[in-house]
Amino acid sequence: MGDLWASVLKRVSRRVGPKSFRDWFEPTKLRGLEGPEALVEVPNALFREWMERNYRALLEETLADQPPVNGQAVERVRFILPEENASARPAGPAIATPPEETTEPGSLGGSRSSVLDPRYTFEHFVVGGCNQFAHAAARAVADSPGRSYNPLYLYGGVGLGKTHLMQAIAHAMLQRNPHLRMAYVSAERFMCEMINSIRWKRTPEFRDRYRNIDALLVDDIQFLEGKEATQEEFFHTFRSLYEDGKQIILSSDCPPRELATLEERLRSRFESGLIADMQAPDFETKLAILRRKAESDGFELEDDVAHFVANKVRSNVRELEGCLNRIMALASLRGRGADLDLAREATRGIFPDDAKPPSIESIQRCVADYYNVKVSDLKAKNNSRVVAFPRQVAMYLAKKMTNSSFPEIGKKFGGKHHSTVIHSVNKIGAEAAKSQEFHDLLDRFMERIS
Ligand code: ADP
Ligand code: MG
Repeated sequence: MGDLWASVLKRVSRRVGPKSFRDWFEPTKLRGLEGPEALVEVPNALFREWMERNYRALLEETLADQPPVNGQAVERVRFILPEENASARPAGPAIATPPEETTEPGSLGGSRSSVLDPRYTFEHFVVGGCNQFAHAAARAVADSPGRSYNPLYLYGGVGLGKTHLMQAIAHAMLQRNPHLRMAYVSAERFMCEMINSIRWKRTPEFRDRYRNIDALLVDDIQFLEGKEATQEEFFHTFRSLYEDGKQIILSSDCPPRELATLEERLRSRFESGLIADMQAPDFETKLAILRRKAESDGFELEDDVAHFVANKVRSNVRELEGCLNRIMALASLRGRGADLDLAREATRGIFPDDAKPPSIESIQRCVADYYNVKVSDLKAKNNSRVVAFPRQVAMYLAKKMTNSSFPEIGKKFGGKHHSTVIHSVNKIGAEAAKSQEFHDLLDRFMERIS
């Protein structure tokens, strides 16, 4: 079996450049065979992703040219990670599992526990197309700090999960090695501590603290822009750790090249590792995040409410959560589940577009359109069912969706008496209570109009 892999690698080495071979093939190991599959161990998840995308075809092509092993042709590759158990693993020493222990590490005077948010773990992080790459990179770094990507530079807009992902790395590293000495700070805090150390003439302690660690995580590095002295100090800290092969992880709201007043040598250091961006979540990811959160709070989240929130909140995950929190709070206050009405009420006014209610004219247009009648019919005196019913629906929606009073609504419908409006609103409300289908139709009207 060893021969098989050696022979495959030899052939591959003739087809890829020496650097690629060293970077991507030397670290691989054949862990075993399972039928037609070769189980190939690679160091981490990001590595695996890279191999899948770039070298799977080459490997399988090369395998196809090899003679069968024990009568079985080997034609496919399955990439596995060191911690994954492959059933066909050859006998050998068991792979060490990280200790389960959760004792406090000796990090920064024992302040770590108050610094890391216990909820910001990989388990609580929802992966979607928008953050897949950053997530894989973060995993890889957590799996082998100092060895895979250094520094790891995560960037993205506000509320897209940078802090969460960074802290997830910290949690995972500590779980693997509770004795790891690690510092997690915001760039602002770093600067604060530095200034204080100068003031109290404790600079050597400050330096010791940040240079005798195994991993340094600095959040919101964009804060260093224009702060030359802090940049200078940070540069030395960075270099000292980097040269000792210690892991450095940075986050920022933009890529290094856009940090306008960052010293060039610092910028090129930032760029020397892996830069991963975090994009705004797409609709599906937003739904997944909402569901995950509702679930962890033991809250039953209806699909239409989830869709409503995911549609309303454009990109910021923090706002997405804030929105759901309001809905959960109102539902608990009312002592009932959350439906669309409640969701709307709970989030009223927090979306810029919501500040202004729709006009009664736009409601009339939408309803007339749907029922295939003219807007003028809604205002006419004609009381045939063909127009009377749409008119009642439009009046109901006008009451629900605008701040207009009954007489004001009546006026917009060709000067109807306010008691007519009240009657319509009550009638449509009663219909909606009787028929789920009709209720849903009204919801769709409101969706479309708002
Ligand atoms: P940033 O640091 O980029 O401004 P945060 O990491 O503070 O953003 O994220 C804001 C909120 O959104 C946090 O409560 C975080 O847990 C949550 N969040 C962001 N991205 C995700 C995700 N992919 N899965 C689950 N929660 C997320
Ligand atoms: Mg943050």
